[in-house]
Amino acid sequence: SVRVRFAPSPTGFVHIGGLRTALYNYLFAKANQGTYLLRIEDTDQERYVEGALENMLTSLEWAGIFHDEGVVLEKGQVAERGSKGPYIQSQRLSIYQKHLKTLLESGHAYPCFCSKERLDAVREEEKKKKGTPRYDGYCRELAETDVAERISNGDPYVVRLKLPKSTEIGFHDLIRGNVSMNTDDMDDQVLMKSDGYPTYHFAVVVDDHLMEITHVIRGEEWLSSTPKHIYLYQVMGWEAPIHVHLPNILNDDRKKLSKRHGDVAAEDFRRKGYLPEALVNYIALLGWSPSENKERFSLEELEECFSLERVSKSGGIFDVKKLNWLSSQYIREADLERVTSIAIPHLIEANLISESEIEQKRDWINNLTAVLRENIDHLSEIPSKAAVFFQDELQVEEGEASEWYASGELKMLKEPLIAALSDIEEWTGESIKKVLKPVQKDVGLKGPKFFKPLRVAVTGSVHGPDLMLVLQVLGKEKTLKRLGKIPV
Ligand code: GLU
Repeated sequence: SVRVRFAPSPTGFVHIGGLRTALYNYLFAKANQGTYLLRIEDTDQERYVEGALENMLTSLEWAGIFHDEGVVLEKGQVAERGSKGPYIQSQRLSIYQKHLKTLLESGHAYPCFCSKERLDAVREEEKKKKGTPRYDGYCRELAETDVAERISNGDPYVVRLKLPKSTEIGFHDLIRGNVSMNTDDMDDQVLMKSDGYPTYHFAVVVDDHLMEITHVIRGEEWLSSTPKHIYLYQVMGWEAPIHVHLPNILNDDRKKLSKRHGDVAAEDFRRKGYLPEALVNYIALLGWSPSENKERFSLEELEECFSLERVSKSGGIFDVKKLNWLSSQYIREADLERVTSIAIPHLIEANLISESEIEQKRDWINNLTAVLRENIDHLSEIPSKAAVFFQDELQVEEGEASEWYASGELKMLKEPLIAALSDIEEWTGESIKKVLKPVQKDVGLKGPKFFKPLRVAVTGSVHGPDLMLVLQVLGKEKTLKRLGKIPV
């Protein structure tokens, strides 16, 4: 049965590209009743970043992309689930050593004692000759006695893969078709570093084999490494999994999406107040296209219709506008209480509301989010949109709003509006609507000529959400105060 994995390095955050890789693995597993596991690839780590792992697991959990096996969070603590562990590579060093021994004994790997200085010089030289910096294979030819002596002397060494000369290594990629590379264009890859840690290339092959991975689904940046991996499978006598390389996610300048272009981590979007289902829906479409003509997909729907056959070769462009378009719909349609809970921290952070008021004002905040969510892309927009409900002094926008604020229509409306609204006892959208109707009739102002000046008088703007709801949230006192200030 299908077994796939997401294997991030513990950088501390989940890049949008990584989130998509995780999602596609998850969806592929679901579609095939398979198992999706999470492994941490931390053998290249220079230094351990405190809390990095927890942070990444939290992001994946937030997105709702749950794995069946591997490294998990249990009550905030890093733990493991499954029978193929450990799932953190730095805890598997003895396993790699064991398999390295096999390779050394069969002559498919060799110790290399070259100093950093020599390697730098060789790379420079090879780069001049062939355009790519490579190792020249110097230590391939060392005499066995020589090697034994240097090892027993305690000379530091790495272990390299011994690639055969002029050999074509090919594999079939599910998205890209047949891919092949000649070993003359490949490097004698380091498999084990002098500190006893494996390189990514060695660890990934050993682990994917031992964890019985059937499909390696990962970013296209790994495509050129895959022939090396395939060769390793061959010499280890293992069956290679099927490889699937996902197209890059690009910026609108068609370069690979990177931090320089703004938000790239899942948690950036969480902090901005995007709903996870909107982000997941959006990234699902970055490289995969559904067979039906539709753009809105819940995770459950994706689980049903996702297939690798519909993943494209070319990169998807990360288009914030489209994400926002989807996100605004999700925000409008989500459970109101949930939206309010996500909005509250933003209101607190903007000092519009204090922690201690929340309980007592919860209904009112619910109404506030009900009004504001009609016109936002993400919930961190709430404070700026909410400001109008908190201000003591109304700020009237320039242009059309200011014109309406000084208009004859508004002057004419001032007293009748105040009189009618003052009488309301239970201040609701409904009751407000009821008393406004006769006022409108009396003054004889049609549609926009009535509502635009009124809106400007209470919000300072000609545009905005449903006016009855706006008035309800604004409250009787503030409404009357603002009407009282209309210049006559
Ligand atoms: N650790 C690699 C990364 O961070 C995983 C690549 C792979 O999936 O093989 O992207």
